[in-house]
Amino acid sequence: MQNQAEITKQSTPVMATYNRFPITLVNGKESYVWDDEGLEYLDFTSGIAACNLGHSPQYVKDRLIDQMNGLWHCSNLYHIPAQEKLAEALVNISCGDQVFFCNSGAEANEAAIKLARKYSQLVLGNEDSEIITFTQSFHGRTLGALSATGQQKIKDGFSPLVKGFKHLPFNDLDGLDEIDPQKTCAVLLELVQGEGGVVPADEEWLQKLASICRKNNLLLMADEVQTGIGRTGAMFAYEHYGIEPDVLVLAKGLGSGIPIGAIVAKKHVASCFTPGTHGTTFGGNPLASTAGLATLEYIQHEKIVEHAGRMGEYFHKRLSQLAKEVNGIAAVRGKGLLLGLETENAMEIVKQAHKHHLLLLPAGPNVVRILPPLTVNIEEIDKAMEVLKTIFKKHDQS
Ligand SMILES: *Cc1c(COP(=O)(O)O)cnc(C)c1O
Repeated sequence: MQNQAEITKQSTPVMATYNRFPITLVNGKESYVWDDEGLEYLDFTSGIAACNLGHSPQYVKDRLIDQMNGLWHCSNLYHIPAQEKLAEALVNISCGDQVFFCNSGAEANEAAIKLARKYSQLVLGNEDSEIITFTQSFHGRTLGALSATGQQKIKDGFSPLVKGFKHLPFNDLDGLDEIDPQKTCAVLLELVQGEGGVVPADEEWLQKLASICRKNNLLLMADEVQTGIGRTGAMFAYEHYGIEPDVLVLAKGLGSGIPIGAIVAKKHVASCFTPGTHGTTFGGNPLASTAGLATLEYIQHEKIVEHAGRMGEYFHKRLSQLAKEVNGIAAVRGKGLLLGLETENAMEIVKQAHKHHLLLLPAGPNVVRILPPLTVNIEEIDKAMEVLKTIFKKHDQS
């Protein structure tokens, strides 16, 4: 008899935090990836919305190689030109004034949470206030971020959780009456819930929420880790709603697959962070900042956001047509190129798609999430549509 430790040791030295698909990817170019046997897949996951320019985009690659021939890393004890330029670029394209860089989405939310608490203490004069978040939200896996997350399965087994979060129902107008401005310092939300099932915020609900924040000087913090950097057909999803968050949280698409996270805050909020209050060894290092800067330059120069908007519209239309033709799709949701199909068994559809060499993602048990690179073309969308049509037609017959 083998004991559990031996079995695990034989299988892999990597901890079993993921139930991985039986696919080993070794190469990528634009919208395609290749496995270790040379099989080609159309990648409509983009490494979970990270590779927004497709795989190994030449422009970013050239800039990274230049930087690699110079300085890779030096810590934040010194001035970093690429970081300064990336901050300037982010400030120019957003409603924020100052940037803090880190390495991931969870870390960016941690920074936002810490900044909100400082703001509460210094500006609102409240040492013990709460941050409002929403049911079905996802903010990351670190203790603070998972405490903020509105899904029980993410928290199971990790108590005691970080205190000071209150979850309200997403898109519920009456639920907003539960906000007690005296006890609250900030609201943190995704404008399109990603992991929670591709659910856009309702216009009226978000306007009411933003107005409560404005009236009471509560911070409106948009977790745009998944929706940011062009994903929804706007540079940032808040632009669709005509609101301005006080804190914008970014990561996934910012570095074209090189790890980087950031928060962009309005000046009166950003000034609550002073030397020594927050920090990171790697955050915004020369290599990561170069990836971010090159990504934004390429997006702006090649008008990728506008392109993503057009491709998203086309894709959404075709998916809606398919939903009418087959029984297996209950709804098509999303904005831009963050799309979701509501269906009975999302994982089953994802596995079927693998057999047709198309990579898709589940978002919860009942939603298939589709995240093509923003550089995707009509031909590739048509190819994915053929696969989805085949799968759902077969599904109807069984
Ligand atoms: C992915 C995601 C996170 C967590 O990002 P990591 O880089 O995995 O830590 C946080 N918020 C949202 C909305 C996300 O989609």
